[in-house]
Amino acid sequence: MTSTESDLPAGKCDACGTTQKPLVKVSLGKDFFGRPYDRLSPSSDLSPKWYCESCSVHKNLQRDFRDIRAEFDKLSKGQASEIAGTDQLQRAQMRLQEIAAALDSHAAGSRLIDLTDVNALISRMQAQAGSQSVTG
Ligand SMILES: [Zn+2]
Repeated sequence: MTSTESDLPAGKCDACGTTQKPLVKVSLGKDFFGRPYDRLSPSSDLSPKWYCESCSVHKNLQRDFRDIRAEFDKLSKGQASEIAGTDQLQRAQMRLQEIAAALDSHAAGSRLIDLTDVNALISRMQAQAGSQSVTG
């Protein structure tokens, strides 16, 4: 006689460690820029991940945040970037605002993504957008 909870997969959330909630496997699929997500290159995304519901939301936010930050870093260095166009830059900024808002309403500390980092990137992008509109 066992008391196994059949609707809970064995294991725990890879972010917060809970074993008490249903877990979902996060499929990273396509990234924010529509590129196939290469889970082999970012060293922190090597292992398969299972997350509880709130952490799976954060995981997607984290992925988009990382992608946007990486592309913005390229742009800042004058390299080819997915957000070189004004439209893409605006779209990325809007997504960051969504991420910041989502993190704000989920204050219970997920360690996946830091609102401070998101806000810092928003500020950098606003400065960039400002200088672009002046020059052209
Ligand atoms: Zn969790």
